[in-house]
Amino acid sequence: MKDDNFMTIKLYNTLTRQTEELRPLKKRRVGLYTCGPTVYNYAHIGNLRTYIFEDILKRTLIHNGLKVKHVMNITDVGHLVSDADEGEDKMEKGAKREGKTAWEIAKFYTKAFKQDLAALNIEEPNIWCQATNHIKEQTKLVQKLEKKGFTYQTADGVYFDTSKLPDYGKLANLKNQELKAGARVAIGDKKNPTDFALWKFSPVDEKRQMEWPSPWGVGFPGWHIECSAMAVKYLGQPFDIHCGGIDHVPVHHTNEIAQSEAAEGKPLANIWMHGEFLLIGADKMAKSGENFITLQTIKDRGINPLAYRYFLLQTHYRKQLTFSWEALKAAENGVEHLYNMARSLAPTVILTPPSRGKNPSLIKQQFSSAINSDLDIPAALALVWKTLKEKTIDQKTLLEFDEVLGLEIKKHLKEKKEKLPGAVEKIINARDLARAAKNFAESDRLRRELEAQGYTVEDTKDGTRVTKK
Ligand code: AMP
Ligand code: ZN
Repeated sequence: MKDDNFMTIKLYNTLTRQTEELRPLKKRRVGLYTCGPTVYNYAHIGNLRTYIFEDILKRTLIHNGLKVKHVMNITDVGHLVSDADEGEDKMEKGAKREGKTAWEIAKFYTKAFKQDLAALNIEEPNIWCQATNHIKEQTKLVQKLEKKGFTYQTADGVYFDTSKLPDYGKLANLKNQELKAGARVAIGDKKNPTDFALWKFSPVDEKRQMEWPSPWGVGFPGWHIECSAMAVKYLGQPFDIHCGGIDHVPVHHTNEIAQSEAAEGKPLANIWMHGEFLLIGADKMAKSGENFITLQTIKDRGINPLAYRYFLLQTHYRKQLTFSWEALKAAENGVEHLYNMARSLAPTVILTPPSRGKNPSLIKQQFSSAINSDLDIPAALALVWKTLKEKTIDQKTLLEFDEVLGLEIKKHLKEKKEKLPGAVEKIINARDLARAAKNFAESDRLRRELEAQGYTVEDTKDGTRVTKK
């Protein structure tokens, strides 16, 4: 895309609490870091909501002609059961649960995670990085912080002293919330409730599966330090955009900012973006809860994973969304209908004057302006539906839009016939027979029955065409 038609991309920045114009640090290039999974279990569909939001962001940047360098980490050590450095390491816990080693657990669930991404048509990052492969980078960062006087040692590890940073907690506005995140945790040997571990020592009475020597003693890195160390290794400091789920605001990202700014005296990232939660009932879906739904659960019910993607796209990423099987079913119908409509489109629309609304470049502009206003995908989808119904969009334009939506419309264009439930197909066959026998009363009755079930019937020269309403 040429510079003169470069469109402004506006994104909501959690740090400034404002929607801001994206100004890439390097011309036409964007560095993007997204916090990846802790691989001690399958991802649940709430986690996957966050990755879909980030995928939409990346596709939007690419749609605007930007080159994106996307880095995602794999947390395979150091994430403790409580985000506040308490309790067991999630990896070791997973290993005990399954009678495998922590390394085997990491490998297994990393693979499962990548399969989920593929099923949801989420593009993989340019760089995957595992915490256990970057111990050196993490210890170096801790040493830097130590040299600058931001750390202290307790019996169980090296901690970051948050009282040394006057603006600690700015991302979450922690001060105004009376240090909510820290207030709930037991302070132990820590100096301040919000102080967090940079390096934890292995317990004296227990041999950990994952542990390394360090200048302070044998142990393992804290959870937050991995993201700071790896993001900067691959993207430099500062870089453009850092993302994650909303729960990362008060602890994980707050601490990433604290340690990286303390180490380098400059921001870690310019824009911080957070996806809202997927809820189930009144609660957030969580891996620790027994009742968590994976993508496999959806597949087991015979539902296309892309129906789940479509379900998510209907709600803006900064709004909470409640999952239900009914809503997912409705989304499945919706996306099937979209595929059918796409099939019925002319490959290219005959151009009529723009005033008649059939100007593809006008539609493209509207689409871009929707996605570029803080990823307003619901508005972009509404435009798709409107132009599909008016038949003012052509297949080529729709496929261009699908580069952002990621619903694999192209794959579905080739399917000649839509899949109909067996019972519906029976009625269609019976009606065809009635028509052949010139029993029009019966064929009309069967048409009404099809209509009552939500289908429209057209008799074309090629046969009966049945479409879902
Ligand atoms: P984890 O594997 O636990 O580190 O989480 C992976 C990602 O999923 C993080 O960015 C979390 O913020 C995000 N996440 C966790 N629970 C939910 C949820 N219920 N809805 C949306 N995102 C979530
Ligand atoms: Zn992270």
